[in-house]
Amino acid sequence: MVTPEWRVTVDPRRCIGSGICAGAAPDHFVLVDAVSIPLDELIPPEESVLDAAESCPMEAIAVRDAVDGRLIAPEA
Ligand code: SF4
Repeated sequence: MVTPEWRVTVDPRRCIGSGICAGAAPDHFVLVDAVSIPLDELIPPEESVLDAAESCPMEAIAVRDAVDGRLIAPEA
């Protein structure tokens, strides 16, 4: 059985360094020079990462299916 994996990215041009993502999912985002960086780009499905993507005021975070690239969060 294939383990489903997500790909997490942050667009540094959109990120304003609010830190909301690092607060919502501290195991997955860290702020470096006021820009959020995913600690791991490929992760197993994790609810807190969805919360972070939905909470980002700039929609800078994208969570995608690592296999087919389908956007999982934020919801359109
Ligand atoms: S919530 Fe969005 S804008 Fe705020 S630090 Fe995270 S990625 Fe950047």
